Amino acid sequence: MEKKLIVTYGEDVQKMTKEVLEKAELEKMIPKGARIGIKPNLVVAKPASSGATTSPAIISALIEYLQEYGNSDILILESSWIGDHTRRAFKVCGYEEISRKYGIPLFDIKSDTYSVKSYGGISMEISNKVLAMDFLINVPVLKGHCQTMITGALKNLKGCISDREKRRFHTMGLHRPIAYLNKILTSNFILVDSLCGDLDFEEGGNPVKMNRIFCGTDPVLIDAYIAATMGYSPEDIGHIKIAADIGVGDLDIDKAEIVVINKDTTKVHPVFPTKVKRLARYTEAKEACSACYANLIHALARLDEKGLLQRFKNTPIKIGQGYKNLRCDGPGVGNCVSGAEHVVKGCPPSTKAIRAFLEEYVKGRQGK
Ligand code: SF4
Repeated sequence: MEKKLIVTYGEDVQKMTKEVLEKAELEKMIPKGARIGIKPNLVVAKPASSGATTSPAIISALIEYLQEYGNSDILILESSWIGDHTRRAFKVCGYEEISRKYGIPLFDIKSDTYSVKSYGGISMEISNKVLAMDFLINVPVLKGHCQTMITGALKNLKGCISDREKRRFHTMGLHRPIAYLNKILTSNFILVDSLCGDLDFEEGGNPVKMNRIFCGTDPVLIDAYIAATMGYSPEDIGHIKIAADIGVGDLDIDKAEIVVINKDTTKVHPVFPTKVKRLARYTEAKEACSACYANLIHALARLDEKGLLQRFKNTPIKIGQGYKNLRCDGPGVGNCVSGAEHVVKGCPPSTKAIRAFLEEYVKGRQGK
């Protein structure tokens, strides 16, 4: 498995998706005549703008790419969470239209038969249709999760098991069975929708615009990158750590090659959902790029969990191109705010760097 991630930023989803796929040379990985399964995240019947589900624009571009390279045996497979109907999610999320346009069938895993597979003493019922695929393309959404903290490539495979098994996974605390499931079922390629994922809930409602798409072949590395992007240490996320320990992949993103095709230049949208709005009160943004601002919001969410936000009540954090060449008080985020009293450099700075900087600032130890 290659320790490499291909990342791009922007708003032209079609172009961005094809760029990362070309750069990753996905076509060379697919065996000739392979049955290709595409597994999006359609956990609920809500549009991608809610922060819960995989953008249909990414899936469309992926299918076009696959078809341009002569792949014709393609299937989209999913099982929404218990309590929602996958068929309804296909419709609401725009997948019926994709199916019609590209002639790609949609398959509801809830209606499948299952085979029992085991790893490490845990057995689980896995969709026979998924098992019959020659090449599985996992297309998760980068977002938070109220129990597992983050959800990405590893957890997205939970949609490949029976509803009965999903219930049982919860009784086992999710982390271990999710990691073991990924030992049984291989994601041959992972394309991550990091355009607009929820801050901390799987079912959406607090979307954070990030304008990012990235891909790779190692689901552990992908999820480690997601965790870091959201301000967590990958080692602290149970299923990522267990998956690394049992050899599903490598969580050391510091040793990975991260190729960035395009930086983000789009400006942040001024309207936020409630929770993000609450965190945004501690910021003063002027023409901030979306990816930069998203990193700050994720860092603030981590500080909020530790009760550290009050320090910024009267000294909001400055961010954005509107601060270029200006001197200003208090903390600043990004190269544009290098005239701030205290600043974390980067374009954009990572969530990890912002979090560390703000924690130091709260402790009063932050120098310029
Ligand atoms: S540092 Fe400035 S230019 Fe760079 S990403 Fe942040 S806001 Fe945009």
